[in-house]
Amino acid sequence: MAGIGYDDTPMIPGQDWRVHDGKRPQPRIVTPPAVSTQEKAGCPPSDAAVLFDGTDTAKWVGRDGSAVGWKVKNDYMEVVPKTGNIQTIDAFGDCHLHVEWAAPVDVKGESQGRGNSGVFLLGLYEIQVLDCYDNPTYADGLTASIYGQFPPLVNACRKPGEWQTYDIYFYSAHFDGDKVVKPTYITVIQNGLPVHIHKECLGPTGHRNAPAYKPHAPTGPIVLQDHGDLVRYRNIWIRKMTDYDEQ
Ligand code: MG
Repeated sequence: MAGIGYDDTPMIPGQDWRVHDGKRPQPRIVTPPAVSTQEKAGCPPSDAAVLFDGTDTAKWVGRDGSAVGWKVKNDYMEVVPKTGNIQTIDAFGDCHLHVEWAAPVDVKGESQGRGNSGVFLLGLYEIQVLDCYDNPTYADGLTASIYGQFPPLVNACRKPGEWQTYDIYFYSAHFDGDKVVKPTYITVIQNGLPVHIHKECLGPTGHRNAPAYKPHAPTGPIVLQDHGDLVRYRNIWIRKMTDYDEQ
């Protein structure tokens, strides 16, 4: 590009570019998301695939590929207990996933029995959804925990009934045969606060199991959990994670 940058500066160590290199490609342009309020869901960024915009569950299927049993009302969908988890029809790998959820305003149960659901990446790695506003439970099962592995850095819960946001940045494990060549890394921002920063997972998450890796594909569905509680979801979108120089 003429007129900007330099061609007589030193090379940046480890890179193919000079400092302030005028020929270095520009990142692509993305229109940022409109932020949600409690009253109204925001809009996705321009490069996102919309998974749920409040109108229908066309991007989702229920248990064993059956129709989604959850109800869609106003701009959200709500778990219908015993209808089962739902999952995206499409598979996703490394991604930025935005999810908004609300625990039932009618507070019932305690510990893991209060407003429990979950967001699973690849259908294997659960970021816990739970009402932990004034509700003690085991730390690695708290809201936004990487379930059974890592508690969130802070408890950033809003009150039950209020909309909460997760922005999840997920990089899948890769395997060479049985060997892990790169583990899974997860970053989670809950309600604008970092709760996991590039956390190295110990394997897929589980209940009462020591985590361990077994080879899995680098892509899979996004799964939302029916744990029997009336948790709501809205404004779900996903962006493929690409490096600047992959575009
Ligand atoms: Mg759960």
